Amino acid sequence: MLTPEEARAIVLEHIQVLGPERVSLLDADGRVLASDILANRDNPPYDNSAMDGYAVRHQDVAQASGDAPVALVVVEDIPAGTVPQKQVGPGQTSRIMTGAPVPAGADTIVPVEDTRGEGQRIEVLEAEEPGEHIRHAGEDMRAGQPILSAGTECGPGELAVLSAVQRSFVSVYRRPRIAILSTGDELVEIEETPSEGQIVNSNTTALAAFCHAHGAEPIMLPIARDDEAAIRATIKSALKADFAVSSGGVSVGEYDFVKKVLDDLGAETIFWRVAMKPGKPLVFCTVDGIPYFGLPGNPVASMMSFLQFVRPAIRKASGYPAADWPLPEARAQIEHPVDNDGGRRQYMRATLSYRDGQLLASPAKSQGSHMISSMIGANGFVVLEPKQQAAAGDTVAVQIVGPIF
Ligand code: AMP
Ligand code: MG
Repeated sequence: MLTPEEARAIVLEHIQVLGPERVSLLDADGRVLASDILANRDNPPYDNSAMDGYAVRHQDVAQASGDAPVALVVVEDIPAGTVPQKQVGPGQTSRIMTGAPVPAGADTIVPVEDTRGEGQRIEVLEAEEPGEHIRHAGEDMRAGQPILSAGTECGPGELAVLSAVQRSFVSVYRRPRIAILSTGDELVEIEETPSEGQIVNSNTTALAAFCHAHGAEPIMLPIARDDEAAIRATIKSALKADFAVSSGGVSVGEYDFVKKVLDDLGAETIFWRVAMKPGKPLVFCTVDGIPYFGLPGNPVASMMSFLQFVRPAIRKASGYPAADWPLPEARAQIEHPVDNDGGRRQYMRATLSYRDGQLLASPAKSQGSHMISSMIGANGFVVLEPKQQAAAGDTVAVQIVGPIF
């Protein structure tokens, strides 16, 4: 049986980066740039004042102090957004606001706090360093130079830069559209009344929400009954998406038809089991060139398999760097003893938190793969190798699934 790492590597070999699309700037939040971005102008575009104060010639005020103030004549007021009209000559100054262009002749700004007086005549009470409080043209970005490269994930900071260089539309990698289908005669949709022997379909919702959380667009298909024709019809409609993900019907039960239907559709089966718990049965294949993930039906197993295999595929397809394909990992102190007595890698859902700067992992008490409620608040998984035990306080590997507080 493949280890989770081997299985993930095989999945990723079959995933191509999707093409680019143009989106409006705010829609690029969280997306990956598909082309390099050059600065269209210098930033700052011109030398400007970093303070509200007075633009001066440094030599005029080099000796200024509280005991020996230097008097200057104010020749002009320069609010931000205006252009200076006058040159600052010897013994002169211009009143200047933060962000306004520095007038010709001046080389230093004296903050208003270091002056006294108002109107046409002011006194400088402190000597500044030459060039103090001037923000120079181009010191942040230079016109024509690359400022963001393809492959960069956009967040608010990158969007600020893209705004400054006037990119109201940018080219980003497309997000995969993922068809999600659940199989099972026992399933009813959320709004239906379950009769005896029936359970409510929770996997479709969970997997669609994971698609959202990790940057894909889910397409939720109706429940497919446990018969070949129904499963075939639903799988065929799923193949219009970039990837197809199903849950249920992939183990060795009498009514587990997903693999058979995939074979009939000419799928190239790549693997169908992974040495992990929960989530051993997992079909990965391509059908008509579309990657297909047949996840187990048990709710926790389906979510776990999604995060271990579909998540990396989503991240690769949408252009994220390789380090961001699998879930991020860390080391944490475990709060109570755990024991993986089986022969497969175990992923235990857990709550991760910080105490005094130390990352702690508190595994959920019940780890049964039908225990949906154990996913509430689970922002991480403890990763235990076969036969690995850990005592309370030991350091263990964890995967990070959600924000840690
Ligand atoms: P299966 O893999 O089809 O044998 O299903 C394994 C277990 O998961 C069974 O107990 C199913 O009832 C349950 N199950 C399968 N699909 C879903 C679903 N969409 N929502 C909730 N539970 C499910
Ligand atoms: Mg089933």
